[in-house]
Amino acid sequence: MNLKALQKWVCEDWNKRSKKKPDPHLQLIYLFEELGEMAEAIRKIGGNKARKNVEVDLEGEMGDVLIALATLANNCNVDLSAAVKKCKKIILRHGQGF
Ligand SMILES: [Mg+2]
Repeated sequence: MNLKALQKWVCEDWNKRSKKKPDPHLQLIYLFEELGEMAEAIRKIGGNKARKNVEVDLEGEMGDVLIALATLANNCNVDLSAAVKKCKKIILRHGQGF
């Protein structure tokens, strides 16, 4: 699934499940919440007190971040595929092809 498909799915899912979408400010808080969960997962597996025998779903947490970002992007009418093209400018500035 690419970013455009993810954004479309998120939009359709919100339309299917929700009567009222959260405003972008609240959605930003949800994104920070998911970033916090991702940070916790990273700390558990690689922090200065990395724990052994702790199951961490880092991929799942990053997926949650992507969904929260896609939701926020939809609420702000931002096309994440277009945002990736802005990354391309940075990559080119750093001297590598994209
Ligand atoms: Mg999460």
